[in-house]
Amino acid sequence: MTVQHVIIIGSGPAGYTAAIYLGRAGLRPTLVTGALAPGGQLVNTTEVENFPGFPEGILGPDLMEAMRAQAERFGTEFIHEDVVSVELVDGNGDGAGAAGTVKRVTLDSGDVLEAHAVIVATGSQYRKLGVPGEEEYAGRGVSYCATCDGFFFKGKPIVVVGGGDSAFEEALYLTRFGSSVTLIHRRDAFRASAIMVERARANEKLTLLTNTVVTGIRGGEAAPSGVAAAQPTVKPLSLNLGGLSLGGGLNLPAAPARAGSVTSVDIRNTVTGDTGTLDTAAVFVAIGHTPATAFLGDIVAKDDDGYVLVEGAGTRTSAPGVFAAGDCVDRTYRQAISAAGMGCRAALDAQHYLESL
Ligand code: NAP
Repeated sequence: MTVQHVIIIGSGPAGYTAAIYLGRAGLRPTLVTGALAPGGQLVNTTEVENFPGFPEGILGPDLMEAMRAQAERFGTEFIHEDVVSVELVDGNGDGAGAAGTVKRVTLDSGDVLEAHAVIVATGSQYRKLGVPGEEEYAGRGVSYCATCDGFFFKGKPIVVVGGGDSAFEEALYLTRFGSSVTLIHRRDAFRASAIMVERARANEKLTLLTNTVVTGIRGGEAAPSGVAAAQPTVKPLSLNLGGLSLGGGLNLPAAPARAGSVTSVDIRNTVTGDTGTLDTAAVFVAIGHTPATAFLGDIVAKDDDGYVLVEGAGTRTSAPGVFAAGDCVDRTYRQAISAAGMGCRAALDAQHYLESL
C-alpha cells in the first residue's frame, strides 16, 4: 500500500484550512470528511456574521462549501466516510522500523489508508437536551452558540439551559441582546464557578430558575405585525425561582416572533413536580460538549473529557506525526475562525514533521 504524506480527519474549518495549506505545499492531502454531514457544525447554522472577510455575512453551508472548493483547488482528495480507528504501526511492516512511523487509518467501509502524518480535526458535538421540539426548531430559535446567534434575538426573551460555566457565560453574554435572559438549571447547585454565579445574580436582566428542567420546546406562526411577543411568564407561580423575581428587566418592547420559530418552553419543577410554560423566542442549550475523539482510542493523550492534549500553542499530540486542531482540542474558544487558525498551525507542524523524516 502506498504510504501517503498526510491524512486529515474532519471537514470543519480546521480540517479544510489544514488541507488548503498542505495542498499549496504540494503534499496532496487526503481529507476524510465524515459520512453524514461534511462541513461540520457550520452546515447546521444559518448566517455567519463574524467570519472575517464577509462584511454582509455568509451562510454557514456556503462558507464551508467555499473552503471545500479551495482545498480541492490545491489538490485535496476527499473521502466521504467515517474513520473508525487510527493505529500507529511499524513503517517497514516487518517489526524492524520504529513503531508509529506510519499511521494506519481504518474507514467504516473497512478500507485502510496509511500516511506518515495525520491531522485530527473532528470537532466536538454539542450535547443535546433530547426533548420534543429541539430538532424541529434547531436554527429557528434553538441554538448551541450564543456568540453565533445571540444577535438575532435583540429585544426578545431568551432561555439558556445548563448550570456550568458555559451556560453562565452564554447567559451573561446574551443579556446584551435579550429583553430578559432566564437560565434554567436542573439542580439548585451550580457547577459554574462562584464568580460567574455572582455576576449572574448581580445582573438584573438575568433570572436563575433552579430545580427546573425543560421538557419540550414549542414554536408557532408569526405574530401579527405590530404585536409585541409575550414577555416571559411562568405558570403556575409555585415554581422554585431560586429566590429571584422573574420581573427584573423584562420591560423592553420585543419584536414579533418569526414564522415557525420558538415561542415557549415547557418546564417542570424537579422538586414539586409542577409543570408550566415559559414564553421565549430562543433556547440556548449549554449543557456541555463531547469531543469526537473516541475513535483514537489511547494512541494520543487526552484529558478526562476526551479532548486531545497538544503541546503548548502548537498542535503536536503525544504521538509523533499525529496533530490535532479545532474543537476536538479547544474547549474554550470553539469559533470557526479560531479552528481555522489552528488548522493552519497543524498543517505547518505536519509539514515540518514530514521534512524531518
Ligand atoms: P459542564 O461544566 O459539564 O456543565 C454542564 C452543565 O449542563 C451542568 O450544570 C449539567 O448539570 C448540565 N447538564 C448536563 N446534561 C444535562 C441535561 N441533559 N439536561 C439539563 N442539564 C444538563 O460543561 P460546560 O459548562 O460546557 O463547561 C465545560 C468545561 O469548560 C468546564 O470545565 C468549564 O469550567 C470550562 N469552561 C470555562 C469557562 C470559563 O472559564 N470562562 C467557560 C466555559 C467553559 P449538572 O450540574 O446537574 O450535572
